[in-house]
Order: sequence, then structure tokens, then C-alpha cells
Amino acid sequence: MTDFDATRALFHLPEGVIYLDGNSLGPLPRAATARMQRAMQDEWGEMLITGWNRAGWMAQPRALGDRIGRLIGAAPGSVVLGDTLSVKVYQALAAALALRPDRRVILSDSGNFPSDLYMAEGLIRALDRGHELRVVAPEEVAEAITDEVAVTLLTEVDYRTGRLHDMAGLTARAHAAGALTIWDLAHSAGALPVDVAGAGADFAVGCTYKYLNGGPGAPAFIHVAPRHADAAFPALSGWLGHDAPFAFEQAYRPGAGIERMRVGTPPVLAMAALEAALDIWDGVDMGALRARSIALSEMFIAGVEAACPMLTLASPRDPARRGSQVSFRFGHGYAAMQALIARGVIGDFRAPDIMRFGFTPLYLRESDVQAAIRTVAQVMQENLWDDPAHHRRHAVT
Ligand SMILES: *Cc1c(COP(=O)(O)O)cnc(C)c1O
Repeated sequence: MTDFDATRALFHLPEGVIYLDGNSLGPLPRAATARMQRAMQDEWGEMLITGWNRAGWMAQPRALGDRIGRLIGAAPGSVVLGDTLSVKVYQALAAALALRPDRRVILSDSGNFPSDLYMAEGLIRALDRGHELRVVAPEEVAEAITDEVAVTLLTEVDYRTGRLHDMAGLTARAHAAGALTIWDLAHSAGALPVDVAGAGADFAVGCTYKYLNGGPGAPAFIHVAPRHADAAFPALSGWLGHDAPFAFEQAYRPGAGIERMRVGTPPVLAMAALEAALDIWDGVDMGALRARSIALSEMFIAGVEAACPMLTLASPRDPARRGSQVSFRFGHGYAAMQALIARGVIGDFRAPDIMRFGFTPLYLRESDVQAAIRTVAQVMQENLWDDPAHHRRHAVT
């Protein structure tokens, strides 16, 4: 079992704030500050370029990849860190399309995060071989997996509603139709138990700054199923994915296995913060985390629905079909979220009308959820959102 009071103590949580946005940017692990300082002073400062060997910087993308691998059910040596999630989506998609050269359809759903769809559009344009991005409603994905489909590009947990796809079922269906699967785990890794190997996923990608608490701009990860690892061609053929980067050969030869999914120089300082975040995850039982995430989410839904008839639940009511977030629809959702943030309850807003709240058992207690319910009830019942200050739009919502 995991002691969630103990994990809470490992985070810096600002005074007077109830943080329900760990699904967008996890809070600061206390140990990250000292780890970062060590990386700067003892490693960069003292070792200079010898840090690549002496401090293990070069091995970090694989070593941290294995620690994330445990959280997503991936075999050791099948996950590597680097770049951003958008870039990893592009890489996985390019590799998958190359493995299905006679098919032309990329299947995704309208609940997918726009960047995933944009990257697919850009890749289609760059390839210029007549590929099609076919976007259907989330509940129509299974039916839409036909023998035209080269690859499905799906995000397991819908960023707006929290709706959870059946990864194992859809993967089996894709394989039966001869298609490959890419699973985006942006809202899954660190949010619920994931078993990419058990589901038979071909590729998986995700970010580390949301539930994993790696810090703003922390590197993304990519998993390639070991059965594809030596066949998947990396479209972004950078020198650190080369079989022998320091041979400085003129022509590209992909490295062995997951190594080829590296591109260029890893962000060593960002990796240091992520390392401290993963120290916390190493001790967490994902089953216990899921049970607590459901308990906290159910408490929030019941409390908010009882007090706020003007809010409509946008997330599936069945917790087994939700990730670790709860969303409500409200016409003035942006202003309502600003009013909550002004009162120390931080969630976020996703256009057009979604108020989104993340539940992160590592540092959220039942008492926090109860206090958040009271603040939501007050803001909604007293129309406290109806204030010009709360209608002003910021760049990040
Ligand atoms: C958060 C998120 C992204 C963000 O991509 P970055 O390149 O890290 O900015 C992409 N896809 C999904 C599904 C996300 O939830």
C-alpha cells in the first residue's frame, strides 16, 4: 500500500491553494530543487563536458524511460525520453505509417488533443503520398477500424471530458483489421494503471509534466513495442538516434531498438527535475492510486451536483470509464474558473464550456476536496463569477 500522507509531504504546495490542475502541470517535488542545484553546480559547474560520461547524462533518457515503463506496463528497454509530446506523436506516426506502406488512413477521434491531429496533418503534407486523417466521434472509433486503416492515433483519456478508451479492446480490434495502434498517454501516465504490453499496443507516447510532476516543459516519452523496435524507422533521424553517434559517419544508420527514437541532445537540467519526481513514483502502487483517485472524484461529483444544479457533468458517470479528472459544462465556465482561481481553487478551462478538475492522490486529501466543493458551491450559488475581472481572457486558460 502507498502512504498518501507521506507522498503529500514530498511536494511543495503553496499556502492557501487547493490544486486541482495536476492533470495540466504537476506541482514541484521538494527534492527537485536540490537535485536541480546538484545538476547545475556539481555536474554542469564542476564536470563541464565530462558530465556526459561521469554524471550519466547520456544514459538518462533510457534510465528514466525504464522508470516510466513500470508505470505504463512497458518492458525494460522499450521507453526513451526526449523532445516534446507533439514531436513524439510525429515520430510514432511516421514509423507506424512506414510499417503499413499500402494503407492510407490514420484514424483518430474528435476528442483527441488538437496537437496530435495537427502533427498528423503536417506529416501527411510532408509525406505527400495521399494519406487521410479520418476523425470520428470517440464512441464510433471501434466501428471505424476498417482494413483501410494503417494506424489508430488515440488518446486514452479525453483531455476535455476524461472519457477513457478501452485500450485493450480497441488494440485487439485494430490488430484484427491489420492496423497498428498509437496510444497517447498524456492523461494516463501517473493517473491510472496502464498496461501497454498487456494491451498489445504498438506505440505509446506521453508527457511527464502533467500527472508525473516533471516540471514545465519536462521531456516526453515514447514506447515502441519490442517486436517493432528494430523495424520502426525514425523519421526524425538525429545523431543521437544513430547506431554510432560518435563515429560521426556521413550517412544515417538507425540505432538498436528504442535508441533510434532519440533525436538530439537531451535536456539534462529538465531530466534532473524529472528524476526527483520519479523518485516519488517508484514507491507508488498504481492500484491504490486508482482506488483513491476514484474515491476523491466521486466525492467531488456528488458534492458539486448536490450544490450546483447549473453545472452539467461532462465526464462519464461510471468511474471505470473515466480517467483521473472530472469536468463540468457551464456557459460561463471561463469566468467561473477565474473566480475559483481567485479564491485559491485552481482548475482550468477548456473551450468552449468545460471546467476541468484533476484528482491527484499523491497530494490531494479528502479535506481538500471538501473545501473545493464549498468554494465551487459559493461561486456558483452567489454568481461570484459575474465580475468583469473574471471575464478577461489570459493567453493560457
Ligand atoms: C498535453 C498534451 C499534449 C501536449 O504536447 P506538448 O508537445 O507536450 O506540448 C499533446 N497531446 C495530448 C493528448 C496532450 O494531452
